[in-house]
Formats: sequence, structure tokens, C-alpha cells
Amino acid sequence: MPGLSLPESDEYASSVCPQAKPLAPSRHRVLDEELAWLFAAKAYKLEAYKAFGGAIQIPTESYDDMRPVGEDSRWDIFGELHQYLEETFPRVFGRLNVTKVNTYGIVLHWQGSNETALPVLMTAHQDVVPVDPATFEDWSNPPYSGIYDGTWIWGRGSCDDKSDLVASLQAIDALLEKGFEPHRTFVWAFGFDEESSGTQGAGHLAPYLENRYGRNGFALLLDEGGETYGDVYGGDVLFAFPALSEKGYLDVQIEVTAPGGHSSVPPRHTAIGMLAAMIVELEEHPYEPALTRQSSAYNSTQCAAAYAPEYPTRLRELARAAVHSDAALAELKDALLSTFPEYDALLRTTQAVDLIEGGVKVNALPERAAAVVNHRIVEDSSVLEVQTRITGLLRPLAARFNLTMSAFGRSVLAEETGAAGHLDVSVAFGYKLDPSPVTPTGPEDSYQIFVGTLKGAIEDSERNGGRAVVVVPQIEKGNTDTSRYWNLTRSIVRYSHVREGDRYNGFHTVNEGAQLLQALLK
Ligand SMILES: [Zn+2]
Repeated sequence: MPGLSLPESDEYASSVCPQAKPLAPSRHRVLDEELAWLFAAKAYKLEAYKAFGGAIQIPTESYDDMRPVGEDSRWDIFGELHQYLEETFPRVFGRLNVTKVNTYGIVLHWQGSNETALPVLMTAHQDVVPVDPATFEDWSNPPYSGIYDGTWIWGRGSCDDKSDLVASLQAIDALLEKGFEPHRTFVWAFGFDEESSGTQGAGHLAPYLENRYGRNGFALLLDEGGETYGDVYGGDVLFAFPALSEKGYLDVQIEVTAPGGHSSVPPRHTAIGMLAAMIVELEEHPYEPALTRQSSAYNSTQCAAAYAPEYPTRLRELARAAVHSDAALAELKDALLSTFPEYDALLRTTQAVDLIEGGVKVNALPERAAAVVNHRIVEDSSVLEVQTRITGLLRPLAARFNLTMSAFGRSVLAEETGAAGHLDVSVAFGYKLDPSPVTPTGPEDSYQIFVGTLKGAIEDSERNGGRAVVVVPQIEKGNTDTSRYWNLTRSIVRYSHVREGDRYNGFHTVNEGAQLLQALLK
């Protein structure tokens, strides 16, 4: 069924938010129809439900403190999942070239007939966030039941990310069954610790894939994404939100050390008091929000303004004017922040003081107090910029409290006799990440094939009633395994094909549940 025409497709719309045409298989039109029949069959759906539920029943939890594979028996459960997947999808594991990387990473290679076309890479992760035993009672079905109640499939991993894992295998299996032979090579890579650090899974898969397929050796990478598609702006138009970039990441530890002593003769400020003043200083200086014409946030705003039926009129006018006017751009930024609270985290680097410790006894002065501040860094900033800014904000306080100071391995305020203590600012947990490159969206870029395919799939599906689709690029506020894969391709898309309302309760919480159809049959 052809899509309805978009409400506004004038010159402004096509210049600020060009939309690729929906793509449908031409060479494989018959195959496409056969698959649609297969997927619509009740028996097939029930089989698919069983396969999905079975994968959910294996609690492949990953924890922050996991030691390497081979040294930590908590990884062993992934062996069970492998066995289950191999038994459930014998055709896939028998016919594709299978490689295990660092024991539990899975790479599937489906050789295409065209040796010169770059392969496409699709990824998902096998692990899930642990279920907090204290919440067991709050689940209406046990967290690893994998139960299908006629509408929902319940259990940890039903949304994140066994849905993408099993859907991939289901799709490959159906294509194999129909005798499909790919023109282009397809590769799947399944990590197994995305929810903790990615070190053991994607951390090993990335160098393996780069070694085997080369730097920029893939035409496109498709990984999980947090947003759904749906009629979020009312009317008859559906909006889909693939993320084309992800924010950077930095945890900063602020540590104040000071001489101990008895609490009956305290200095005016203890280490805890000084640390508290520093936290107040940071919270009083949040990062400034910015809206530049190069940013993903600007692009998605323009798409909404150009195509959304129920977009606020004032914002629509400002967006149009902002194409040329800097004053309108500034006004648009303020209007977005006051209209849509979620823009707050999109337009600025965020900071959150998430950990604090200090003091051991009420009659002893604390010799150490420390806090960790979490940062998610916007596209046009960097780890270095965050480090410079926090150093600059805390330096005057260190001077005021007569502390020596070091920041990120460098001395900032040198040793003086009579200093009241020391302030050290450092990267916590040894991990930092600059914001990702942004996936190119030019007319010749492989992103357009993704967009065309996505639009074709949505417009063609019965449940969407042939409605038109606008694809709106986003920035991913969190990070996934893709943060390890930047060398593999410039074209990275983070997107899970799920409609609004298909996830019962979101990610990482109780009563994780997914609608079977959407989670499995893309
Ligand atoms: Zn995930």
C-alpha cells in the first residue's frame, strides 16, 4: 500500500529534512510476499513466541564487577544461551559461518555473491541488566518467565535486548528456509556485556571485526536504539527516530583529603564541608544549552517543524526563521527548552553528582571525602572540554580553602607550607568517551538505504494502515556497544523497530514486557 502524502512537502521541508522514498524489494518481490504469508501464520507466530520466550528464560545477567571470561563463573550461563540458540536455530548456525570471539561473543557471516560490495553489520547483545531480588515481588510474572499471555511476552530482556537478538536469528532463519541467497555479505555480531562495560564482549569483537573486514570495512552498522516509532505528533503521520550519534561519557571523581583529628577542635571547614561547597558550585553552574545548525537536535527539530501535524505553531515559525536568522535560532532554543523538557538533556552536556562518601566516625574529623560526577557530553564538545571546565570551576574554591590541587594528573595549585589539605580531580573508573562521530546523511550515503527500507517496512505493514512515515535523526542519550565500533564504519544507526506502546514498561525496570509481533517480526 502506498503511503499517504506528507502534510507538508514544500521546498523548506525538503531542504531542512529531506526524506528518502520508501524502498520495497524489486528483485525479491515474490520472496517478500512469501515471507509476509509466513509471518502472518498463527503456527509460525507461536513458534516464534516459543523461541523468544526460551531465550528470556536464560538469565544472562551481566554485573559491573565481572572479572574476565575464564576467571569468573558468572559468565558460564552464556554457554547455556549459546546451546539454546544453536538448538533452536539449527539452520542459522549450520549454514552461516560462525565464529566465537572471547568464548561468548558470536559473529555470524553470511557470504554474499558480490565480493566488492561492503558488508552490512547488525548487532545486538545477549546480556541483560540483573533483576534486583528486592523487586521480585513487584513483577506480575516472574522476571525470567518468558511467558506469553496472548498479547505480551514477559521478562527481563524482552525489550533490551533479546528482542533484537532473537528477531535477527528469526529473520535469517526464515530467509534461509525460503532459499534466499544474499547479494551483499551480511554479518551479525552479538556482544555479551553491553549492560556493564562492553569490555569482554564488544571490546573483543571490535578488534576482531576490524582485523577481518578492515577499517571502515562495513557499509552500515545497525544496533539497538532506545526510541520507538509512532504518531507522537498526532495526525496521520508516523515518526521514526533512529539515532545517528551518541553522547560522550565522563565520570569525574572529586576527592578532598585533610588532616584528621578530634571533632571537639575542628577547623572551620572539614573535608566533607569543602566537598559540599564544591558540589554546590557545580550545580550552580550547569552546562549552557546550545542549539547549532550542525547538531542532530537542530535537524530533528526541523523535521518535526516541517512535517508534524500537531507541532506548536510558534515553534514551527521559529524553526523556519532559524534557517537564516541567528536571533530566531536563539529564540527557538529557549522555546524548545520550555516546551519539551526532554530537550534539556539533548542541548547540553549533563552533569549528575551520583556518588558520595566520606567520614568514618562522628567524633573523628574526616580525612577524606569524595564524590563522583557523571557527565554525558554533547556532540560538539569533548572529554577535554569537560575536564578543563570542571578544573576551572573548582580551582577558586581550592584556593579559598587553602588546598593544594591536582587535576587529571597535573598540578594546578602547587604545594605550599600550611596548606589545609589537598583536592584531587580525576577520571573515575578509568573510562572516558568522546561524543561519537555523526553518521553522514547525504543523498549517496548508505543511511538513505536504511531510511528507505524503514519507510517501506512501516508503510507496508498492515497495523500502520498505510500511513506516511517521517524519519527523524536523533542523538542517543546513553551509550551502547556501538561506542566500540566507530572504526568499522562511518554509518552507524541505533534503532530497534518497535512502535510506541509495544514496550510495556520500558527498560531496566520491573515488568519488562514486549508485544510479540513487533519484537519479532520486523
Ligand atoms: Zn541494550
